[in-house]
Order: sequence, then structure tokens, then C-alpha cells
Amino acid sequence: MLERYEPVIGLEIHAELLTRSKMFCGCRVVDSVEAAPNTAVCPVCLGMPGMLPVINRRAVEFALRVALALGCEIQPYNIFARKNYFYPDLPKGYQISQYELPIGRNGALNITLSDGATKRIGIRRVHMEEDTGKLTHLDGGSLVDYNRSGVPLLEIVTEPDIRSGEEARAYATRIRQILRYLGVNTGDMEKGVLRIEPNISIRPRGSNEFGTRIELKNLNSFRVLADGTDYELRRQADLLDAGGHVVQETRGWHETRRETFSQRAKEEAEDYRYFAEPDLPPLLIDEAWIESARATLPELPQAKEARYRDEFGLTPYEATALADDHVVAEWFDAAVVTADAAEAGGNPKVIANWILNDLFRLLNERERAINQIDLSPSSLVDLLSLVARGVINQNTAREVLAEMIDSGRAPAAIIEERGLGQISDEPALVALIDDLIAANPEPVAAYLGGKENLLGWFVGQIMRATRGQGNPAMINKLLRQRLEHRRSM
Ligand code: ADP
Ligand code: MG
Ligand code: ZN
Repeated sequence: MLERYEPVIGLEIHAELLTRSKMFCGCRVVDSVEAAPNTAVCPVCLGMPGMLPVINRRAVEFALRVALALGCEIQPYNIFARKNYFYPDLPKGYQISQYELPIGRNGALNITLSDGATKRIGIRRVHMEEDTGKLTHLDGGSLVDYNRSGVPLLEIVTEPDIRSGEEARAYATRIRQILRYLGVNTGDMEKGVLRIEPNISIRPRGSNEFGTRIELKNLNSFRVLADGTDYELRRQADLLDAGGHVVQETRGWHETRRETFSQRAKEEAEDYRYFAEPDLPPLLIDEAWIESARATLPELPQAKEARYRDEFGLTPYEATALADDHVVAEWFDAAVVTADAAEAGGNPKVIANWILNDLFRLLNERERAINQIDLSPSSLVDLLSLVARGVINQNTAREVLAEMIDSGRAPAAIIEERGLGQISDEPALVALIDDLIAANPEPVAAYLGGKENLLGWFVGQIMRATRGQGNPAMINKLLRQRLEHRRSM
């Protein structure tokens, strides 16, 4: 199919902004699943006649942060418009939305594909609007919850630069990660606070014109985004191959049948009769505001990944895994800073490996996030410096780490109390080794006869005798010495 047709895909992403209050009134923004319906509403967000909207400054700041993070040109003169249509989830009969003058334009995002290649996806616009209410359809009718009505919503629209389900997924994943880094959205697709809608068409290779597109809605995970997109590309190619044509429409994803289905035909362009919102003044964003918003931007994930690779020598996999969640990345950064300051606890690579292997495993077992446990970055560094100084070995450190997480206690206290200190006591180790040699004449003879790889067996026996606490480097050295001593006897 890809030999004959070129996929053309553009994504519209709607993200609710994590403000305390709504876009144009003082109502609280509440959890759409947990809050009782219609408990966070007022005459403004219920669309009562004569009520006046007021712009939420924090929502504008969040929108500005996103537009800047996506490299957009910022619109200094912002106008809100009325988008008129009738639907029961829209109490005013219109939605207040930016239209001709969105807050951000002409941005771009670089995505990384599975083969490591990067690709630039153009961002056409970032604009502010308000969310609608939520309808629940039952057998006897429909219910509407206006808690969501008027919640600040950001729409991020790409150029039609995306060419596959995988690219769509890579783009959407990056956007979600950036929104979370910026602290403006939780990224919870199940709860609908982040909604991704691909526009999908194909055209014969070499053609300059776009084909007819469909819009895919109600996708609740990144996997469904990729699978639904790929299914749709195949469906359209089969249609064209059979001499048919694509109908412009909105389609949904059927999870059990794993195919898309028609939801709503869109024969002609909808006429929303946009006009400037007369109840809101123009919103002016000056250079000073832009610069102060820019100053609040955190280090973004791509920059973090690059720094982890280039400065810390992490592999691309390690860098991506650590930067994935901004909470983990900040935790790692804090540990590296502490280790640097204390000149102890190993280098960033060692810390990274402990987080990615041992800490992640322990967190998984406990079903906890890194910020939900009583372990500070500096206490991990303390633990690693005990390993570096030979006080405990790696295995013991793993056990101690588990106990640190469960009890919140310092590593030194745990080691002291449980007598876990590594045995580096030379006379004690020599005594154990000499007993071992005396009790095992056959392996000793074999070793001395040239089977040097038997050394591992001896080391294992001594580790067992010390309940895993022997200093491995010292045991190795002493074993060789005592065995050689035996030869000369
Ligand atoms: P609308 O206002 O109807 O949503 P837009 O022109 O704003 O339409 O485009 C919405 C999204 O659809 C954008 O991401 C855009 O890149 C994408 N798009 C536009 N035309 C096509 C097409 N023929 N095939 C695939 N995507 C398209
Ligand atoms: Mg659209
Ligand atoms: Zn309200």
C-alpha cells in the first residue's frame, strides 16, 4: 500500500489546563470522574443570560508556556470569538474560542522514531478555548454534567506532516510529556483531560493535492491512536484500489472488532458563524509577559535526554527512560547534584543504573511512584557511597535499599542494626579459606593441576559462609594466595 499511496495525517490535541478555576468564571475545576455531577457550576458556565465572562490569567499563562515550549510565534493581540452551534452540552449555544488570532502559530516539535531518526512536525496553531459539558447516553435519554463546562482547554493543531501511526504516536507521546513537564496537564487520557484526534487521508505517491480526510475521535490510548490510524490508512487504500472514494466524515474506533466505523458524515463544511466575542476585551500579551513566561519554562525532555547522553554518557535508552517522567528526571538530577557536592556515591551513570534497575523494580513491586516513598535522592547517594567505600557490597546494598524504602531510615543505621557490614576482616577471611581448602582436597588438587576456573566455586563457598557479606575483591585475592601457598607445601 505504501508503495502506491502516501499517508497524510494532521493531529488536533485538546488538553484541559490544570488551573484551579475555570476559563471565564470562578468555579473550581474538579475531577470529572470523582466529583458529583453539576456541583461545580455557576450562572456563567451554565450559560444564563446576562452573565459576563472574565479571562483566567493563569490559563493564559499556561497556554503561553505551551506555545513557547513548542517554538511558536506569540500573538500579541488576542481576540476571543464565539463559535456558534447547538448541542445540549453547550449551554450558551456557542463556545468561546480563539479563531483567527490564536495565541501561538508556526511552531514545531521534533519527534524521535523507533529507528532513532528524528523528524520535524510543524505546529500550525495553539489556541485557547473552553471545554463543554459531558453527556452520558442512557436507554431512556441522556444526562448532562456541566462540571466540565468552561474548563480551560488548549487546542494544539499540527501541519499535515505526519506519515504513519507510529509517527502520530511519537508526536502525541512527546506532547503529553511536555504538557506534564510544564505542569499544565496530567496527561490522563482515560479521564479525557487529553484528547487526540487524527485527521487522516492518503494520496497517490507524487501527487501534490491532498486527498479527502476523515477525523478519528474517541481514542483513549496511544496504542489505539497508532492502531486506529494504521487501520484507517489501509481502509482508504483498499477503497481507492477498488475504484471507490473516501467520504469526509468523523469515525470512531471499535476496540473489540479493532476497526474504525462511521460516526457522523460531514458533507459540507460546518458554518459556525464565528464573530468576535463582544463580552471580552482584546487580550494583550506584551514582550515583558512573554519573557517572564519563558523564564518559568523548565528544562524540556529533549534537552534533558541530550544532557544525559552528552554530559553523563548514558545510552539513548537510559537517557530516554530517565527523562520520560519529569518527576523521576528531577529526582535523578537532585541525586547527581548531591553526589557531586559530596564527591561521593558514584557518577551519574551509577546512579542512573540504580534508579532504572533496582529502584524501579522495588517501586513496581510496591505499586508506588518515586515521589510516593520515603526515600530522598541524597539517601540513595549515601547508600551508594557506602558501596563505593567497600562498607557493603552490591547485594547487601539492594537489601538495604528495600528496607530504606519501607522504613524511611538511613542506610548506615540499617547496616549497623542488622550487622550487614561487609566482611573485610583479613584474618577472619583467611581462617574461613583455610578451612575450606582443608575440607576439599579434590577441587584443590584440580585447581592446582590447571583448572583455574574452579576459583569461582571457591569464591561462591566463601560468600555462602559469610552470608553474602564477604568483600568479593578481598576474597578473590586471598583465595589465590592461599591456594598458591598450598602448591608450595
Ligand atoms: P478543521 O478546522 O476542519 O479542523 P483544519 O484545516 O484546521 O481543519 O485542520 C485540522 C487538522 O487536519 C490539521 O492538523 C491539519 O494538518 C489536518 N489536515 C488538513 N487537511 C488534511 C488532509 N487532507 N489530510 C490529513 N490531514 C489534514
Ligand atoms: Mg477538526
Ligand atoms: Zn462557573
